[in-house]
Amino acid sequence: MMEIITSIEEMKTWSRRIRDEGKVIGLTPTMGCLHEGHLSLIKASITECDSTVVSIFVNPAQFGPDEDLESYPRTLEADKEILRSTGVDVLFLPAKEDLYPDGFKSFVEIEGKTNYLCGKSRPGFFRGVATIVLKLFNIVNPRTAFFGEKDWQQLEVIRTLVRDLNLDIKIAGQPIVRESDGLAMSSRNRYLSEEGRLSALSLSQALKTAQSRIEQGERSTEIIRNEIRQMIEQKNGTEVDYISVCDPEDFSESEQIRSRTLIALAVRIGKARLIDNRIIERA
Ligand code: AMP
Repeated sequence: MMEIITSIEEMKTWSRRIRDEGKVIGLTPTMGCLHEGHLSLIKASITECDSTVVSIFVNPAQFGPDEDLESYPRTLEADKEILRSTGVDVLFLPAKEDLYPDGFKSFVEIEGKTNYLCGKSRPGFFRGVATIVLKLFNIVNPRTAFFGEKDWQQLEVIRTLVRDLNLDIKIAGQPIVRESDGLAMSSRNRYLSEEGRLSALSLSQALKTAQSRIEQGERSTEIIRNEIRQMIEQKNGTEVDYISVCDPEDFSESEQIRSRTLIALAVRIGKARLIDNRIIERA
């Protein structure tokens, strides 16, 4: 039976009891509107841990003033059904007023890597992410927390948070789950029109083509970036936010493709801002 816990105190009490029993807790933080991408993290938690907690919270602190906080898809009843049938132990559904009460003043800032990619185009985003993730860690007290490589930079930022603040938590990154045609699964794919959905395919296709080009010997990051841009901008209604060919850990760019490279991109299509990435290991 899945428990639904909304109170922070109750969540802490549950966690303390489970840990006292010597059990290992796994946490998967989400914003809901669950899909197979989320489920891969949750299933990994169920396999690796004794008790699995999934949180659903659309975190206002990580949305900018002109972003989609109000319209972010919320499908709580369907999410509960999915989580029940997957075998999750606790759905943690905290209230905004409890997580950010009047007088809330403490935020977590991770320097350096947040100046690039999504951090550059979404000021304050990672401050909001790091703050909520640390709060969830303190409330749920997991041994392992599961995050998707779909949000590669987020995963790196959280690894930095855990290392720098000496948290006793293992971060488990999970591979990107894609639709059968290659589109990375995302709650925001719901924003896409039929035409936008077709255009959105260009993100994963361009990344795949870039990988082949590098495998065939192309070494210029500028050429790779330009080719990706061309492939995406050919499609109707696409507006590139960024395309970066960079170091997978610190996100610095260089002129030459290195032995291990991250290609990360963000593209607006209508109301949706989609991200995708690929790690390329040079032969
Ligand atoms: P979100 O609900 O979008 O905040 O995502 C919650 C977690 O699910 C994050 O760790 C994401 O990286 C992960 N996630 C979202 N989409 C995917 C996907 N397509 N494949 C793997 N993980 C994903």
